[in-house]
Amino acid sequence: MQVKRVLIKFSGEALSGASGFGIDIGILEYIAKEIKTLKNAGFEIGLVIGGGNIIRGVSAAQGGIIRRTSGDYMGMLATVINAVAVQEALESLGVEVRVQSAIEVQEVCESYIHRRAIRHLQKGRVVIFAAGTGNPFFTTDSAATLRAIEIEADVIIKATKVDGVYDKDPKKYPDAKMLESVSYEEALREHIKVMDDTAIALARENKLPILICNMFKSGNLLEILQHNKGVYSIVK
Ligand code: UDP
Repeated sequence: MQVKRVLIKFSGEALSGASGFGIDIGILEYIAKEIKTLKNAGFEIGLVIGGGNIIRGVSAAQGGIIRRTSGDYMGMLATVINAVAVQEALESLGVEVRVQSAIEVQEVCESYIHRRAIRHLQKGRVVIFAAGTGNPFFTTDSAATLRAIEIEADVIIKATKVDGVYDKDPKKYPDAKMLESVSYEEALREHIKVMDDTAIALARENKLPILICNMFKSGNLLEILQHNKGVYSIVK
C-alpha cells in the first residue's frame, strides 16, 4: 500500500483516559507526539476526532428531555472542543494545524471548505475536521469516511484501543483470532463493530481501504504507514 495522504479517526473516548470523561492531558500529549512523528515522516494528515468523551446524541436523548436532533448537535459541538484541544497539543509541538468545522463557529475555527482543506494539506498542515458531517443522525465514523473520500486520502485509519478486527469479541473469548484482512461485504454482513455500516458502505462504494489499529502502541502508526509492518487489520 503506497500511502501519502491519510485520514486518521479516533474516538473522543480515546482522549479521556481511565476517567472515561473529558480530556486527559497526558493522553493528549501522547497522541500529538504520535501524529507529529507521522508528519515528520512526510505524510499529509487529516484528523477526525469523536465527541463521546463529552456527549453522544443517542445517550443524551435517552431521558426523553433532550430530543435526538438536539443531542446530536450537542455531540457535534463536543467534537469541536476535542478538535481545538488536539490543535493546541499539536501546535505546542510546533506542528501547524487548521481546524475546519462542518458547523460554523467562526470565532473558534475555520468552516469546512473542501478546496481550502486540500490547500492546507498540500502546505503540510494537519487539518482537523470537526463537527462531524454537520448533520444529526450520523456518526463521526461516517464523517471521517466522507472527509477521507473528499480529500482523496489513500486510506482511512480507525485508530482504536484494540489491535484490529477479531472473529469474535476478544474480551469475552480468549481464543478470538485477529483477522488481517476482511472484505467490505464481510464487515457489513457480520456487523463488525469497528465502524458503523453507513461508514463501511461509503468506503466500499468509493474503494477506500479502512485500516484498524491500536493507537496506544507507540510507533505503531508509523511502522504501518512507512514500513508496511506493525499490527493492523484492513477492510477492503
Ligand atoms: N454526530 C452527529 N453527526 C455527525 C457526527 C457526529 O450527529 O456527522 C453526533 C452524534 O450525536 C454522536 C456525537 O456527535 O454521538 C459524537 O460523535 P461519536 O459518537 O461518533 O464520537 P466517538 O464515539 O467517536 O467519540
